[in-house]
Amino acid sequence: MNVVELTARLIQCPSVTPKEAGAIKLIEDIFKSTDFEISRIDRSGVSNLFLRWGEKKLPTLGFCGHIDVVPPGDLTKWEFDPFSGRTTGDVLFGRGSVDMKSAVAAFCVAAIKYSRQAKPNFSIIIMITGDEEGEAKHGTQAILDWMTENNQRIDHCIVGEPTCPKTFGEAIKIGRKGSMTATFTLIGKQGHSAYPHLAINPINASTKLLSKVLNTKLDEGSKFFEPSTLVATSISANNTANNVIPAEVKTSVNIRFNDNHSSQKLIKWLQQECKELNEETDTIIKMDVKVAGEPFYTEPKSLADLVRKSIEKVSGITPVFSTSGGTSDARFIFKKCPVVEFGLVGEKMHSINESIPTSQIFALEKVYFDLIKEHYKFFNKN
Ligand SMILES: [Zn+2]
Repeated sequence: MNVVELTARLIQCPSVTPKEAGAIKLIEDIFKSTDFEISRIDRSGVSNLFLRWGEKKLPTLGFCGHIDVVPPGDLTKWEFDPFSGRTTGDVLFGRGSVDMKSAVAAFCVAAIKYSRQAKPNFSIIIMITGDEEGEAKHGTQAILDWMTENNQRIDHCIVGEPTCPKTFGEAIKIGRKGSMTATFTLIGKQGHSAYPHLAINPINASTKLLSKVLNTKLDEGSKFFEPSTLVATSISANNTANNVIPAEVKTSVNIRFNDNHSSQKLIKWLQQECKELNEETDTIIKMDVKVAGEPFYTEPKSLADLVRKSIEKVSGITPVFSTSGGTSDARFIFKKCPVVEFGLVGEKMHSINESIPTSQIFALEKVYFDLIKEHYKFFNKN
């Protein structure tokens, strides 16, 4: 089976997170006729797969990806069935064609091809999860926990998320910003809008809070990161009466922060803002914070260098090192070993009519294959 055929078959499994819908099983079956050792690491209803070629104490190159996808959205807007895996001309359509069943197919095919022509004097592992687009609690983290319990080594890791903005080969991600969402519940005192002095208006307080935090410049960026950003993502008073000052308002902000900050530091700052506003307006403010991840990066040394060289060889383009975009499973892996991300052009990920030129999928397989070959040399030298 070639890499595009495998991608199409994976797309035909409607694995909307956290369902595996046959996708993990398909890969598992393919690896049964190889020298890879297969382990299923399912946890709390999430299916995960771990594959190893070579002994677990040998220097190890890892690949990581997910087969779960976001929901297709309005089906009537799709040109084709999002789970048909249909190719038209040079373009493969379907949910997951970009993010990221193609990359999973590419590293699986590359690793199998390599394993059939070489002896395992280093090791390749493949980690595939069904829980990246969802809560991401029982996916890659479950695999990493299992690896620790079973003394499974990993020295370098590639995550196959889409990383290129417009042209294949133009960007490698060496890190990601942190992400957190703070939801504020502001409680005032309900009253008649004609007698505002008798009420405590939580809407007024919320606009003060928002304007204060939205107008705070968090930083100027850092060596590997763009400046941190803070945006308002919701505000709701749930009030339909125009003569009532409501008692309560909820508003949320999302912060994408670089290594000048930690979520703890930002929480302290927001708490201080709430305290000051409470003293000024008598509004009671409760804050609820969800941290999706802290910022991280891998110094662009040997791993990033190897990835860059393989991309140059295949595409003729020299990629830049980037830390833009949302969170990814690399945030769990960086604690274990250097990790970089490289994948397809991400323009159409999560969109209606998600699609990718098949030439990119073939190119990605070539990059991964070259990387495996170069790691053989790298591990033998170091
Ligand atoms: Zn993804």
